[in-house]
Amino acid sequence: MIYEKNATEMATALEKGEISAVELTRAHLDRIAAVDGEVKAFLYVDNEGALAQARDVDQRRKSGEKLSPLAGVPLALKDVMVQQGVPTTCGSKMLEGWRPPYDSTVVSRLKAAGVIILGKTNMDEFAMGSSTENSAYFPTHNPWDLTRIPGGSGGGSSASLAAFEAPLAIGTDTGGSIRQPAAVTGTVGVKPTYGGVSRYGLVAFSSSLDQAGPCARNVLDAAYLHEVIGGYDPMDSTSISAPIPPVVAAAKNASVKGMKIGVIKELQGDGYQAGVLKRFNESLEELAKLGAEIVEVSCPNFEYALAAYYLIAPSECSSNLARFDAMRYGIRVGEGSAEEVMNATREVGFGKEVKRRIILGTYALSSGYYDAYYGSAQKVRTLISRDFENAFTKADVLVSPTAPTTAFKIGEKSNDPIAMYLNDIATIPTNLAGVCGISIPSGLAEEDGLPAGFQIMAGAMKDDRLYQVGAALEVALNSKWGAPILSKAPKLGAK
Ligand code: GLN
Repeated sequence: MIYEKNATEMATALEKGEISAVELTRAHLDRIAAVDGEVKAFLYVDNEGALAQARDVDQRRKSGEKLSPLAGVPLALKDVMVQQGVPTTCGSKMLEGWRPPYDSTVVSRLKAAGVIILGKTNMDEFAMGSSTENSAYFPTHNPWDLTRIPGGSGGGSSASLAAFEAPLAIGTDTGGSIRQPAAVTGTVGVKPTYGGVSRYGLVAFSSSLDQAGPCARNVLDAAYLHEVIGGYDPMDSTSISAPIPPVVAAAKNASVKGMKIGVIKELQGDGYQAGVLKRFNESLEELAKLGAEIVEVSCPNFEYALAAYYLIAPSECSSNLARFDAMRYGIRVGEGSAEEVMNATREVGFGKEVKRRIILGTYALSSGYYDAYYGSAQKVRTLISRDFENAFTKADVLVSPTAPTTAFKIGEKSNDPIAMYLNDIATIPTNLAGVCGISIPSGLAEEDGLPAGFQIMAGAMKDDRLYQVGAALEVALNSKWGAPILSKAPKLGAK
């Protein structure tokens, strides 16, 4: 089936005229109609908008216009990214019914490249969570096992890839929300270097950590998408003004010969599922066979990363979410004074986890506690950056399992915030230091037959190394397992 192909294969078929963008878009909209009742990856499907975009691409191709490599290929957009006229909820009741009056930079770039936006994907409310169960609307189901979570907060985006509803997706990663969902769905997800992809039009959770990035079913597809969305944007004051590293070339010339791969001592062992560690160690063996040198590195301050993150992220979110005051965006509840309306609206509009974080954040920032909590967390952040700097003097890239476990059952951790937070133990340090990371599938864990993720991290603006190592390992693993790991997922919609 055409929807089972990779994005680059679809792009070739489009270019050769074997299929039109309209046909390809229809095939995906039909697929969504067939399986999304079970998967629930989408909050909104933009049938008309997607087809109009596809007609435009076909027209431009017919008129001989030189199109970008992904023109006509469909994509699923995480609902935290604004798109003009299309509902954007961030998985929250607070923004129900809001249609943004402008496009985010990522969306403008996708549109300019002719990438077809199929719709908006489900997520944990305001990107706070690791399972998509914090969505105010419904949980998303993991296509590998519908009783399990697809990761979070970008579970909708990753599930849409694994269910073959879209070949490409956009995610955002504040502490792991691109990489952890990729790991538990057997897909690929990249958190670019902080500032590498514009945050303009990305609804802010924790501004110093938030980073949008590409999600796909293989490394090369992610690289093409990265090149479409990445690069300097004057609308984002933290955008890096240098050109993005050559990620497509790196994915194509994948070789790890002579590279030093640093295994982070602190990101394995206790708390990691045996089957996940086994696939991780086998992947290291594959890299060694390809000519890489495997070294062990220590990052002693990573132990404090989770604690620092859960002060910094809630602090920033308490400030960012203050804008949802019933006066400007989204819903408005109750009558009376501004304060009464604000109270009633925030009570109804925000879910439990969002409220927990706002309370935690305002507490950590309050006078008398600021230095003890927020100030200390910022110091730990500096120490974590130094751990990375030190480790990168010993290795070209660093590696770890992406998430400590495979996908857990829906409901299993939803009443235990700490157990939920621990899912990001291996991904959070990257965000705190502003460096980049990718998750690729390493295989299926023996205990449960579910996908495990292999994380590769590189220094700031060394994103090309993620693709170079990721693509090399992907080739080796595909031949080890006889086929791409995702091809072993149960077939949905067969009945
Ligand atoms: N799971 C983490 C959190 O709940 C990270 C979320 C994210 O990256 N957006 O904050």
